[in-house]
Amino acid sequence: MTQVKGIGIHSGDPCTLTFRPAPSDTGVYFIRRDLPGSPSLKVAAKNVEATSYQTTIGGPDFKVATIEHCVSALSSLRIDNLFIELDGPEIPICDGSAREFLKAIQSVGTVELEAPRKYCYITEPIQLNEGDKHAYVLPYHGLRLTVTIDFPHPAIGKQTLDIDIDENTFAREVSEARTFGFLKDAEALKAKGLAKGGSFENAIVLDDQKIMNPEGLRWSDEFVRHKALDALGDLVTLEMPLMGHVVLFKAGHDLMNKLVRKIKDSKPSFKHVELGY
Ligand SMILES: [Zn+2]
Repeated sequence: MTQVKGIGIHSGDPCTLTFRPAPSDTGVYFIRRDLPGSPSLKVAAKNVEATSYQTTIGGPDFKVATIEHCVSALSSLRIDNLFIELDGPEIPICDGSAREFLKAIQSVGTVELEAPRKYCYITEPIQLNEGDKHAYVLPYHGLRLTVTIDFPHPAIGKQTLDIDIDENTFAREVSEARTFGFLKDAEALKAKGLAKGGSFENAIVLDDQKIMNPEGLRWSDEFVRHKALDALGDLVTLEMPLMGHVVLFKAGHDLMNKLVRKIKDSKPSFKHVELGY
């Protein structure tokens, strides 16, 4: 087991998270150890309850908020089965990236299970359009992301990241990209009970012209790298590793949830393949 501690970016609540190994064919589960009976919930598209600024999964009387950074490292590490215990309603934001979660898991390592790994192997394109946003997935032998964002802000603009995902590329190119937010939205978010724990310590903050964090950016295109991180987290709700090329244009958590649901519903467009790696 290995732990990560911190506060939630939206709730501001402290939380300790513990990763524990799970057997074959379990999937990824969150377990609320602070609640009576320790209720658990699978990371699955059908359990996604909210997609506004973050991804929340919810059961009848409990939830786990802001799951996407914590689980984004899993596909690159080839982890399909995991128990993630927590003692609060929201995953710690740490530095706003996936760095702490990746480090925590790498520090204890992973175990290859006996069962062959079962993939969702895309055979026909699956496309989703919503206004000027789109998300689609194409056949590809591997997991590739092409992510484009376009923000009318002088410090962001249009950025594209095209990347084949494996443990090395995720660690090097994606895992340390931080979440970001606009100062002008802060009051409205706080009024909705969001961003209460947000600070320069855990997010890139932008005013109308520039980045306000004194240390600046980790990459000039850190924003699109973070969107790739978010997308990988949301893809865990597919409940199976994806073999495909995911192409996203201005896609947020809501469109990702719809894409994952569409993949699940598009039975003729994928097959389940078992590969020994
Ligand atoms: Zn994010």
